[in-house]
Amino acid sequence: MHETNAIADSHATITASRHISPDTSVIRLSCPHIARTARPGNFVNVRVNGSTQPLLRRPFSIHNAENGQIELMVKEIGRGTEILCGTEPGTELMVLGPLGNSFSDPTDSFSTAVLVSGGIGTAPMRFLEKNMAAAGKKIVNLIGGRSQKELLSEGLSNCRLATDDGSLGLKGTVVDLLDKELSNITADGAVKIFGCGPTPMLKALASYCRQHGLCCEVSLESVMGCGFGICYGCSVEIANPEGGTKTILLCREGPVIDGALMV
Ligand SMILES: Cc1cc2nc3c(=O)[nH]c(=O)nc-3n(C[C@H](O)[C@H](O)[C@H](O)COP(=O)(O)OP(=O)(O)OC[C@H]3O[C@@H](n4cnc5c(N)ncnc54)[C@H](O)[C@@H]3O)c2cc1C
Repeated sequence: MHETNAIADSHATITASRHISPDTSVIRLSCPHIARTARPGNFVNVRVNGSTQPLLRRPFSIHNAENGQIELMVKEIGRGTEILCGTEPGTELMVLGPLGNSFSDPTDSFSTAVLVSGGIGTAPMRFLEKNMAAAGKKIVNLIGGRSQKELLSEGLSNCRLATDDGSLGLKGTVVDLLDKELSNITADGAVKIFGCGPTPMLKALASYCRQHGLCCEVSLESVMGCGFGICYGCSVEIANPEGGTKTILLCREGPVIDGALMV
């Protein structure tokens, strides 16, 4: 995992915003510093409007970064995300970033990057896929959702799908899908797993990878305040490699952790 690059609070203008599902939008922001320095897995903390309501910024993974712009994939779940998804292009927002660590660089020790995501957890995968593909890795996306309408595959290639209710793809979880696909995928050489999604999904994924000796990194979520280690709002418990468990601040020592450290 990589440490954070130089953080800046940028005036960022929304240059485009489009719905990709009834409750999810991809929002593009002109943000040259962040676009230049961001790495896959980093996130930004966005002030969603110019007022004090909501008071706290909201964190979002960087979905894509190119040509001086970043994209965010935002699911509306409350006041802050509703405001952001309803904000018109041309509006300027304050965007702090890039924050957090990032997924590891592609190495020679694997030939296929298996990107396993659930729900809005697909948000960081486009940027990660681009980085992996540029390094010559084969890409497999395994994407899960409760039902067809919750499957998000925006900008991703070679996608295989699973839904809890069987409305599209395999009926089951995305970990069931990994289990079904693993022998085919590993026939092409060594793999590395990258996961992002709800915590129960990531726990199941990390546990599966441990049982099958697969190397895995996961990007976690928590409720978060400042985004840079002052408010202590995002503490999570992980395994301590020296024994027992320890608490980390997800905004600084995460959001990406070694899957072997999930508890
Ligand atoms: C590192 C990081 C990266 C993230 N990346 C993305 C992303 O790319 N796209 C995206 O849509 N969302 C992402 N999120 C989640 C996003 O930040 C929250 O959905 C958002 O802050 C909710 O704000 P709100 O005002 O709409 O909802 P609120 O009114 O604040 O909350 C609505 C409900 O959602 C719950 N909630 C709030 N934040 C979270 C959270 N982080 N995880 C789980 N439940 C939460 C609240 O407890 C409440 O029940 C990320 C979160 C983190 C920590």
